[in-house]
Amino acid sequence: MSKIIKSKAFVLNKLDFGDSSKIVNFYSEEFGRVAGIIKGARSSKSKIGKVVDVLNLVEIIFYKKDSRDLQIVSQADLISHYPNIKSDLEKVKYASAIIELVLKLTRENDAHKRLFNGIVKILNRLDIEETEPILLFAMFYKFFIEEIGYGIESEHCSHCNSELSLSKEVLYNYELGFMCSSCGKDHLVTYKFSPELFNKVICLSNRKKKCSYDAEELRSIITFFEKFLIYHIDEYNGLKSLQMY
Ligand SMILES: [Zn+2]
Repeated sequence: MSKIIKSKAFVLNKLDFGDSSKIVNFYSEEFGRVAGIIKGARSSKSKIGKVVDVLNLVEIIFYKKDSRDLQIVSQADLISHYPNIKSDLEKVKYASAIIELVLKLTRENDAHKRLFNGIVKILNRLDIEETEPILLFAMFYKFFIEEIGYGIESEHCSHCNSELSLSKEVLYNYELGFMCSSCGKDHLVTYKFSPELFNKVICLSNRKKKCSYDAEELRSIITFFEKFLIYHIDEYNGLKSLQMY
């Protein structure tokens, strides 16, 4: 039996299939990542083929059958196509990185509304705000790491439990996490943060406080997040979008 489902969804990617169809990966509000097939989507008369474009937020109707790998998508209506993102290369770069994280690191049929809402919010901000795209991306990246279950938030040394904000340097080891400068002496250290930079990493998810960042600091924070996920998730090998643009 298949059920008819209506859900909001982001278009993550699409591939040609056969003579006239497309296979599309969506990130849906109701079911998380879903792979679907749209028959006839490549015909010039196909309205749905035009609406279903990478990054767009759409409302789709599909026939869901759990035994099937590809769900049949019968309808799609446009909710947003983020015109300001698509006309700005810097915004395209970071929006593509957001989409790539979701495509690579979420599971099929695993609904996650907080994550879905977080994507809606960050793409809206990227579309309409003046805020630096790299800052919005760093904020999203930290939120994303926490939502997929690898929280890195830490106020205390993993070894002696002293408060990290009081440490001369904050040191990081993949196995042990964050350490104060004296505990770090006895361990292999992969990253060193100045107290300012460490506080800025924490500040990325602080809604009440605004910190200021320069591009260099943000790039090193993003590199840290990338290495962190590459270490913890075997099949993850980093974001291509960040190298492509
Ligand atoms: Zn310590």
